[in-house]
Amino acid sequence: MIKEEMVNRVALAVSDTVLNVANLTGGYSIIINSNFAYVDAVNDVNFYAKNDEVLGIAGESGCGKSTLLKILYGYTKPPLIVKKGNVILKINEQTIDILTLKDRTSIWWRYISYIPQNSMNVLNPIQRIREHFIETIRTHIDVDIDEAYKMAREYVESVGLSKEILNAYPHQLSGGMRQRVVITLALMLKPRVVLADEPTTAVDVVVQRGVLQMLLDKQRELRNTLILVTHDMGVQAMVTNRILIMYAGKGVELGATNDIFEDPLHPYTKALIESLPRIGDKTLRRGLAGQPPDLINPPPGCRFHPRCSYAMDICRREEPPIIKIGKERFVSCWLYVKR
Ligand code: SF4
Repeated sequence: MIKEEMVNRVALAVSDTVLNVANLTGGYSIIINSNFAYVDAVNDVNFYAKNDEVLGIAGESGCGKSTLLKILYGYTKPPLIVKKGNVILKINEQTIDILTLKDRTSIWWRYISYIPQNSMNVLNPIQRIREHFIETIRTHIDVDIDEAYKMAREYVESVGLSKEILNAYPHQLSGGMRQRVVITLALMLKPRVVLADEPTTAVDVVVQRGVLQMLLDKQRELRNTLILVTHDMGVQAMVTNRILIMYAGKGVELGATNDIFEDPLHPYTKALIESLPRIGDKTLRRGLAGQPPDLINPPPGCRFHPRCSYAMDICRREEPPIIKIGKERFVSCWLYVKR
């Protein structure tokens, strides 16, 4: 029998939490036809990430995954704005709210790192790879250039890359190699939390496997937290311990990866899982009918209601609360509210 329990949105965290996200709301302030508009990309999102785990964030394109990651990193430059919420990071035995920090760069790389989408293109084309490493090391560690270069050589070799790449310019490396360089840079100072935004999307399948393996090997070695954004549910199934499912800027379900795949609760999660191909099953897989909503003018109530075959009157009027179902399983849907 499923036990249903209303939970306080700001009190989702468990004891081994390293990052606690509460009521996070942010989006883009843009101008359309000379008028200001607000794209409500992340709305009242709540979740937590634990030490030594891979947490996946999944959902279709435009659901707010990448925006959420930028906000978690504190990379909030206009037009991206944060309206409310907390991103609490545990550093040693202290906690800080990343969004209230005056100098967020003080925690970047060392405590929290970010691998942006298409990161293979973020390297400065007129700098050799070694200059990227030396600059990163010297920003955070008080060493001279020679010592930083020595550290870079040792580090690059320790992750299985040739030290020769340090002398190359980015354009002299393949896309997969550039991706590995960016990941190596992001992990070099052993951050407690690594945010990776679609790290395998822009590379071919063979390179994808190597890039993922590199991320996972480092996560296991450092026993830190990898938050992995990918719309690829196959990757989610293979590498994550837990998954947050997002729809139209909302966190709609959070739980252990096995539970999400074996018994999806939210109608959107069910549709995502049902659309996946299965070996030996030749029945036609159907995609979800309809389109995600316009986030400048999202629908009232549950944002999924125009596409939901279970929608009830209350779904069209009121936002569903977050319901705790069993241990560390959360869903935001009126179907699970006892009335
Ligand atoms: Fe569907 Fe209603 Fe649940 Fe939204 S709250 S997913 S519309 S049943």
